[in-house]
Amino acid sequence: MPAALADPRPAIPAPYRTDERTAIQQMARDFAMSRVLPIANRLDPEHGIIPDELRAEMGELGFFGILMPERYGGLGLGVFEYALITEELSRAWMSVASIIARSGIVFALDSAQREKYMPLAARGQWLGCLAMSEPGAGSDIASIRTRADKADGGWLLNGQKMWCTFADQADCIMVVARNKPYNPDKRHSGIRQFAVHKAPGEFPEGVSGNPIRKIGYHGRRTYELSFDDCFVPDDCLVGHEVSETADDAGFKRAAAGMTTPRIHTAARSIGLARGALEDSIGYAQEREQFGRPIGDFQVTRFKIARMASEIEACRALMYQVAANADAGERSDMAGAMVKYLASEMSERVASEALQIHGGAGYTTDLPIERYWRDARLTKIFEGTSEIMQRIVSDHLLPPTPLR
Ligand SMILES: Cc1cc2nc3c(=O)[nH]c(=O)nc-3n(C[C@H](O)[C@H](O)[C@H](O)COP(=O)(O)OP(=O)(O)OC[C@H]3O[C@@H](n4cnc5c(N)ncnc54)[C@H](O)[C@@H]3O)c2cc1C
Repeated sequence: MPAALADPRPAIPAPYRTDERTAIQQMARDFAMSRVLPIANRLDPEHGIIPDELRAEMGELGFFGILMPERYGGLGLGVFEYALITEELSRAWMSVASIIARSGIVFALDSAQREKYMPLAARGQWLGCLAMSEPGAGSDIASIRTRADKADGGWLLNGQKMWCTFADQADCIMVVARNKPYNPDKRHSGIRQFAVHKAPGEFPEGVSGNPIRKIGYHGRRTYELSFDDCFVPDDCLVGHEVSETADDAGFKRAAAGMTTPRIHTAARSIGLARGALEDSIGYAQEREQFGRPIGDFQVTRFKIARMASEIEACRALMYQVAANADAGERSDMAGAMVKYLASEMSERVASEALQIHGGAGYTTDLPIERYWRDARLTKIFEGTSEIMQRIVSDHLLPPTPLR
């Protein structure tokens, strides 16, 4: 294959570049291309999940402990490095870029449990999952109905959850439930998080589940779950140590923690789009029609130019939002902006890439269709594009209270 004139893979821009960051990016890139991509190409078309050996290798490299302090075995790095590594992994397989976030559930545990589990989480040997969405509560999380009722020494959870990704393999399910009856006038009141510890590969007592049939994101199974008198001890109520008394403390805590996941999702979107771009540049040089490479047709060249420009713009915003988050600035609006722009861009770019590949793009023989299916999801999870626009517009144009 002739070499491309410019490398579409990003160099870290000068204001953010350090030798350490460049080395981290290169390490993640080498791992993604040599280890993750061949496995993804083999397993995703047959809906295979991430193999245990690959997860163990990721643990060795520190990918589960990027944000964790070194004294727990983490890398002690920031959101910027988290985004750098995520983009590289997602370029190969979004499922792998996603699983590194599952160790972060450990931050919500009480101090004794955090001490116990963080060293394992940093190595990927203890991972969690989030059971927040319900059949009747997706974008509108304040309408959840799963109940937590006080029992002797703990709580009993009852209700239905939807879309709980990784519920089967996780060591802990973080369940969002309400410990007060639903009150339409105080919808955020009584929302709390409960850590349900479990053995990987099975559901705990009082929990049953069925996998949901999805069109993509095959590296991890996603479940609907039923909680029937599932008991959790008192120390598994998130926030019990600080005696959170405010009625809406649990909801505010969940909402405040959304910026890093949204930057992570932007990085996943950008990685997918870059995979689609790189593959399209290669294919446009190889594939000949009318006696010349399709990359010589201006329409293809301009598609490539547009794709590369859109990726670069989203990445620049992602770097900025990640750097601000590391500087301790609360970035709710900017996090929503970058998640919205990057996910919309990702699907557009992956779709254009599929078009450049013609019929070959519509087969499961090439990874383009995977990028396209996974990019489609980035517009839905971690808050839909419409909800991201709502967050941004509410910051800029406060809505009039209902009269
Ligand atoms: C593959 C997959 C994995 C997931 N993993 C998890 C997980 O691990 N844990 C978890 O808790 N959840 C998970 N989710 C759930 C995900 O977060 C929700 O799907 C998402 O929040 C949207 O909720 P919904 O699907 O119920 O759609 P709805 O909220 O019903 O939205 C339907 C449509 O209405 C629009 N809409 C809704 N409200 C408004 C509004 N106010 N203004 C304008 N438009 C609006 C939405 O944007 C969307 O287009 C996952 C979802 C998927 C598909």
